[in-house]
Amino acid sequence: MNDIIIKTIEAFNANNIPARYYESSEEAVSALLKEIPLGKSIGIGGSMTIKALKIDSLLKERGNKVFFHWLEDTPEKMDTARKNAASADIYFTSANAATEKGQLVNTDGVGNRVSAMIYGPQKVYIVFGVNKIAKDLDGAYQRVKDNAYKNARRLKLNTPCAINEKCNDCSSPQRMCNVTTIINKRPSKTEMEVIIIGEDLGF
Ligand code: SF4
Repeated sequence: MNDIIIKTIEAFNANNIPARYYESSEEAVSALLKEIPLGKSIGIGGSMTIKALKIDSLLKERGNKVFFHWLEDTPEKMDTARKNAASADIYFTSANAATEKGQLVNTDGVGNRVSAMIYGPQKVYIVFGVNKIAKDLDGAYQRVKDNAYKNARRLKLNTPCAINEKCNDCSSPQRMCNVTTIINKRPSKTEMEVIIIGEDLGF
């Protein structure tokens, strides 16, 4: 674990958000699966990291009830999954960026993910790779902007960033960047844990 990770974990802990580190995805997933009770319902916020770790499918296969809109095939079912996820016992998602000061920065188009991270589920796990750590809020915003085009392309959106790989603060009807949140300290009604993995994960 390098000094930046140590500093980031200490900062999250000081912000009342317990944080821990795993060298590998396998170690992190194994630990998480052990501590999530079978009887708990699980909500998932859209996240390439969670998808890469297969947390949704592993929990579902072993019997947890999982609400994840990416698993649904119609807009109506996706909306129902988003709403159910927001009131699940446990919510998993990642972060667009974290800072060495122990803050989480996230940008959403719909807003379901950022709102559920703050209020709704009993407990929220925010899982991210070391590539998501920025020095400060300016660095975190820049990280979000610099990487947004990857999500725009993944979602096949007709936005300027999907074409130019650059954000021009567009007014596209398909704009993804409608809501940005900063979690400075643990929201008072939500248990929250940060899981940092020593790999590059997600965008
Ligand atoms: S504001 Fe528009 S151009 Fe900028 S990253 Fe978001 S969707 Fe892309």
